[in-house]
Amino acid sequence: MANARSFVTFAPIPVDTETRVFVLTGAGISAESGIATFRDANGLWEKHRIEDVASPEGWARDAGVVWRFYSERRAQASTCAPNAAHVALAKLEAAIGDRLFLCTQNVDPLHERAGSRRVVHMHGELFKTRCERARCVSPPRFDDALYMDPAALPRCACGARLRPHICWFGEVPFDMDLIADALSACDVFVTIGSSGAVYPAAGFVAAARRAGRARAVYIGPEPPDNARDFDECRLGNATSAVPPLFDVRG
Ligand code: NAD
Repeated sequence: MANARSFVTFAPIPVDTETRVFVLTGAGISAESGIATFRDANGLWEKHRIEDVASPEGWARDAGVVWRFYSERRAQASTCAPNAAHVALAKLEAAIGDRLFLCTQNVDPLHERAGSRRVVHMHGELFKTRCERARCVSPPRFDDALYMDPAALPRCACGARLRPHICWFGEVPFDMDLIADALSACDVFVTIGSSGAVYPAAGFVAAARRAGRARAVYIGPEPPDNARDFDECRLGNATSAVPPLFDVRG
């Protein structure tokens, strides 16, 4: 089990001119912006079965139910603003450039709205839509429309249905090659607000430590399921714990 203490007792993590930082964010970083986490009571997820709204089988059964769910999430996300933790990570990128690899499990756009430019959305993006045919040449495109009417669902120019650009359960997350390279190159690995229950993301910390010398730190109000893989669990909310987390030198 990692050393788990309140974040106030930890010193900032030094980031010098060579340090490579991998940050993995989960639903917890957006919780204080008003976006329900996966496990939240009263969250959107509680009212829906994952198999119905976030799986290829659910899509095959009833695309209208799936689009209604993601339309509701688009509507909710449109009202949410980035918080101090998103802003702190955007500032870190401004300071160290591509030595920060920011990977999020979140499909919301709050990192970008805070100013982050290079964000790897391994589970897709809420405000993108793509053709359901894997071989279609049309790339995912920005889409903030709400599709609440099952009789008027969007179609691709090729004739197939358009689907949310989301990695559903049972599908392979995006950019796994890029992620693997960044994990093997990082000196510092930080997870913010992720329960450590959803793989492959929950395995990134072990991969980073296997690959080399990465120091691994978890930020969140409670230890995650994979706490034993971290050197430290700094217990606190993202908006309090992330802004003072890094000490950029040089
Ligand atoms: P999760 O819901 O399983 O876990 C959320 C974690 O955040 C918990 O460990 C909790 O302790 C922590 N947390 C709660 N409040 C916090 C705060 N204020 N500061 C820091 N941490 C806080 O979420 P997950 O681990 O990201 O995995 C669930 C899956 O659901 C992911 O695949 C993700 O794609 C998806 N999801 C995304 C969003 C989003 O886009 N914002 C929201 C919900 C779920």
